[in-house]
Amino acid sequence: MQIDINKKLKQLKTDGRKIIGCFPLYPPLELFYAMDLVPVVLWGLRGTITDTVESDRHLQNYTCSVARHLTEFVLSDGNGILDGLFMYNACDTLRNLPEIIEKGSEKNGQALPLIKVHIPMVLPAQTDVAAYFKNEINHLIKELEDRFDVSFSTDKFVEAVKIISHVRNLMAQAENRVTQGHLSFLNFSAAMHECWFSTVEEQIQILESLIGKLSGEPVYSADKDNRHGVILSGILPPPSSVINSIESSGLRVVGNDIASLGRSYASMPEIREDPAAYFLDFYYQHFPCPTLLYTGDRRTTSLFHLVEKTGAAGVIFVGEKFCEYEYFEFPYLVQQLKDQGIKTLEIEIAIEDDAQTSAHNARISAFAELLKSNV
Ligand code: SF4
Repeated sequence: MQIDINKKLKQLKTDGRKIIGCFPLYPPLELFYAMDLVPVVLWGLRGTITDTVESDRHLQNYTCSVARHLTEFVLSDGNGILDGLFMYNACDTLRNLPEIIEKGSEKNGQALPLIKVHIPMVLPAQTDVAAYFKNEINHLIKELEDRFDVSFSTDKFVEAVKIISHVRNLMAQAENRVTQGHLSFLNFSAAMHECWFSTVEEQIQILESLIGKLSGEPVYSADKDNRHGVILSGILPPPSSVINSIESSGLRVVGNDIASLGRSYASMPEIREDPAAYFLDFYYQHFPCPTLLYTGDRRTTSLFHLVEKTGAAGVIFVGEKFCEYEYFEFPYLVQQLKDQGIKTLEIEIAIEDDAQTSAHNARISAFAELLKSNV
């Protein structure tokens, strides 16, 4: 079911909450919650944004859909809903976006506070970033206090860390239910989508309700089910029509290496009172993602571990069109998996692919046949 993102965000405003739109993928959620802000990561806007008229005035059409959708949202529907924007450096596309959005929102009569943090993209084992990083986090806290008339307290931060850790645990539990066959990936993905635009308290309700409904026998038994397990890898889950196609073609999703899903909730740092120490752990021990350049050396190992843990027979790479960070790694990962006898399929999701996914469906059916013929 498609959630009404605008309605959800407007309700938050009506409830007097301050909303901070965040990009890219892994903002310091705990800090925002500790300072009475509601962070909303601006991904998954496909379906909410019906055109990119505003965005197209500023961005080339060879920019990925994530950037085009979030720019459109901030400059149109999000105008008047968001109280501020937060970003850190990731891919080249996003590095150049803040100033474009800043100028665009000024022209639209809403000068949104834009708060930036720089995360050094170096291997901590080679370069000690602790002092620089601590300064960045302290500066962020000061800026949030000044801009939003809020204050930092260690007690509230520790409380927020515990709540977010609980949420990540619930997300991992829900994913386990998918792996065990209690829950379809489609329903899991829809619930996660709703979480991205909900407060942390609402996320707990959504996830507990999702997991609670699943007591009893699995819909299909992982032992007896003869459908082949696959892992999905990419920035966003594919559109629901593609997930439907995967789940109805003799395949079942047993794990994910999706940035907005598994890569987001896999990292659970130790509870610490010092935000700088906590986020140093969070970013530098993060589950590998091409947007965190220093995690590159661990990427193959983490994907192989996922394949081994879930017993997947194949990996489907869901490429976000024009996302060079993901695409640079596909050839190497595909070859490594092939060497281990793991089949792979690459599909590409473009901005105009909302309704036209039949070509993907045909390739997914062929991939399912290929896995069957290899038993
Ligand atoms: S999809 Fe890729 S190119 Fe687009 S914003 Fe995300 S990381 Fe950057």
